Amino acid sequence: MKAVAVLPGRPNTVHLRDIPAPTLDTQPHPHVTRIPEGRSVLVQSLQVGVDATDREINEALYGNAPPGGDYLVIGHESFGRVLEVGNKVTEVKPGDYVSCTVRRPGKSVHDLIGRNDVTSEETYYERGINLCHGYMTERFVDDAEYIVKVPQGLRHIGVLAEPASVCAKAIEQAYLAQSRLQVWNPRLAFVLGSGQIGLLATMMLRLRGLTVYTLATKPAPHLKADIVSAFGAAYVSTEQTSIAALAQAVGKPDLIFEATGNAEVSFRSMEVLAINGALVWTSITGGSHRVSVDAARINLEWVLGNKLLVSSVNGNRRHFELGLQALSHGELTYPCVTQRILTHPVRGLDDYKQMMGLLEEKKALKVFVNIAD
Ligand code: BGC
Ligand code: ZN
Repeated sequence: MKAVAVLPGRPNTVHLRDIPAPTLDTQPHPHVTRIPEGRSVLVQSLQVGVDATDREINEALYGNAPPGGDYLVIGHESFGRVLEVGNKVTEVKPGDYVSCTVRRPGKSVHDLIGRNDVTSEETYYERGINLCHGYMTERFVDDAEYIVKVPQGLRHIGVLAEPASVCAKAIEQAYLAQSRLQVWNPRLAFVLGSGQIGLLATMMLRLRGLTVYTLATKPAPHLKADIVSAFGAAYVSTEQTSIAALAQAVGKPDLIFEATGNAEVSFRSMEVLAINGALVWTSITGGSHRVSVDAARINLEWVLGNKLLVSSVNGNRRHFELGLQALSHGELTYPCVTQRILTHPVRGLDDYKQMMGLLEEKKALKVFVNIAD
């Protein structure tokens, strides 16, 4: 069967290759974990989304092949239909729509309790990213433990299950960490960045009742600004209004959700957080980028204001479920808005070059491949 893969460590090696089709008996990552007897789920890929991580993997900035091979099948944003299940699987059945989590457990205590998203080991195993093959292929098999059912009514946005899990986890982490204050009722949020993560975070924070300003560079009008407004938030171009000027005008935010992919923005946002506020970092920033900040002022304000920085990556099955609940709630509250994120479909795995090319385009908000109907 067809798969899209790279040769990790060598830039621009994305290619189509033929790999053996898995069956219910296949062990997809025996070097990490084994699927217990009867617990396999075989899935037909319907759509797979790509993001900046896939671009960085193809640039050889990131990612490793599973041991014993030189290639890595990419794709970590999965959406598919169950074809077959083992005799001990009760959670899903053939025909169900599903997504599949990304990280597989190592050996730390967190991995052992199902929290591989916060593993305490240096090495992490991620399908399509690090040391495990991904989903950019026609079929895949995995343990029912990592398969998450997508409601039938979310078929049209099911490919956003993984990005939604990342957002839902990051927001939940902020609220969990803020329980340190005993009372925390955030009212005002700034979301930095209007890519898929920024937009989904905008929606999820609006669903929690916050007033949300979503900041990105380009002045409106454009699609991202329209989506922000459709979620009942305000779009602000930082070319027209700086984050400091916005904070002056509307107040300092209780919550900042940073998703620009720009480390400078991550640090600068520390200058505007409200007292007792939480700043959530989700950007994965490759390379090196030096900035100078007034460290003494930030330090003083952060200590005197009991401010919190929380970083968040990945999501386990519960975060996928939370993300899917938020997508469902979002569909009822803002009908047909989330699907506007899905801007750039690619026709099939054969068009992988077009897929990688679109990742370079600023206008392409979300690139995804239609693999089957
Ligand atoms: C993925 C996460 C993953 C992270 C780090 C992101 O693009 O969405 O699931 O943990 O990259 O590899
Ligand atoms: Zn990703």
